[in-house]
Amino acid sequence: MYFDPVEGLDRQSLEEIQSERLRDIVRQAACSPFYSRVFQEQGVDPLDVRGLSDLALLPLTSKEDLRASYPDKMLCRPISEMVRLHASSGTTGAATVVFHTAKDLRTWADLVARCFYMVGVRPHDVFQNMSGYGLFTGGLGIHYGAERLGCLTIPAGAGNSKRQIKLLQDFQVTTIHIIPSYALHLATVFEGLGLDPRDLFLKTALIGAEPHTEEVRRRIEGIYGLKAYNSYGLSEMNGPGVAFECPEQHGMHLWEDAFLPEIVDPATLQPMAEGQVGELVLTTLTREGMPILRYRTRDLTRFLPGPCPCGRVHRRIDRILGRSDDMIIIKGVNIFPMQVERVLMGIPEVGQNYLIILERKGFLDQIKVKVEVKSEFFVEDMRVLKGLQDRITGLLRDELLITPKVELVEAKSLPQSEGKAQRVMDLRGEGHG
Ligand code: AMP
Ligand code: ZN
Repeated sequence: MYFDPVEGLDRQSLEEIQSERLRDIVRQAACSPFYSRVFQEQGVDPLDVRGLSDLALLPLTSKEDLRASYPDKMLCRPISEMVRLHASSGTTGAATVVFHTAKDLRTWADLVARCFYMVGVRPHDVFQNMSGYGLFTGGLGIHYGAERLGCLTIPAGAGNSKRQIKLLQDFQVTTIHIIPSYALHLATVFEGLGLDPRDLFLKTALIGAEPHTEEVRRRIEGIYGLKAYNSYGLSEMNGPGVAFECPEQHGMHLWEDAFLPEIVDPATLQPMAEGQVGELVLTTLTREGMPILRYRTRDLTRFLPGPCPCGRVHRRIDRILGRSDDMIIIKGVNIFPMQVERVLMGIPEVGQNYLIILERKGFLDQIKVKVEVKSEFFVEDMRVLKGLQDRITGLLRDELLITPKVELVEAKSLPQSEGKAQRVMDLRGEGHG
């Protein structure tokens, strides 16, 4: 029933494994130039860490620490033992690099295979990976997991939509890995070709790599006629295979035998009360080449309370609300781009793409939302469009508590990225307006 028996362990056995692995990983981390210095500076003796209850003795690690350790000061084995490196997509600032040994890669592939298996993917399935390859972990990371499971794996890579569609048809693909914003874009390409994605053989989509709402998941499921499962990971923690939804589609099981999760208040760094939203902090429990302790992901989420009906005890995290650095502050109001998405994607006339633009008019900050309208609703009658514009403005105002400027645009007219979508354009610092 499980890909790995560790999925079905009881809480106590799982915590015993965690304690043992934490003890080992801290001793191992002390061999890296970075942690040996930090431990010395902060008076941490790795031998004091005997189990989970000693976690607070350890320092937090930040993205800046990773940058400062560039390229290899977090390695705790010689670089000659490393067989691969990956980098973060660098949406915020300079890239950071993570190295893997051959064993690390095997462990990672097992974790990804576990995710596939959990949602019913089996060796006879045909899998197409539509995420970018190269340094981005959504390519090779997912790829080796699918091969580990035994699927026929098509490394389609990102973009080139017409070829994607041909591969889906010709090889009767049943399972795809796709970035949610690209899944919505690809739907418009199908439409342009007069094809219905429901006529394909698709059953399962793994969607992730960027924040997205329940509304977007439902759209993807409706358009393609499949089940879509949320996949969370970050290159600092390998990449995909950190947390993944089970068939219940209610929260993502975080693989606690491999990653030790905490949720902290981003301001005070103290643990949040059970069920409260905070910043996810993760420790690699198995990586031998480059362990990272208590890494501040910047991703905001919470633990979902209670057991999951699927039987796995690995705790579930909620859909990622956004990154702490994604928060927009406008006229003193805090806004997350996902609040905008939730409203827009629930409106049937709204097309598959949108863009949030922040501007400064004089001394006043202003939020403008450009919204694509589905072609069948983009009519000549100005009164109809004006009505839609007013309706969207009202719904956004109710959600955001400030009134945005809404601009309706034609389908496929907004910029489309092949990788993670850029949902916000901040023009406030550029002397516009
Ligand atoms: P990278 O290391 O470049 O692959 O980027 C990892 C980041 O992508 C994470 O820290 C999240 O901010 C974001 N991310 C990845 N998967 C998801 C997901 N399923 N939902 C929301 N955000 C995600
Ligand atoms: Zn479950």
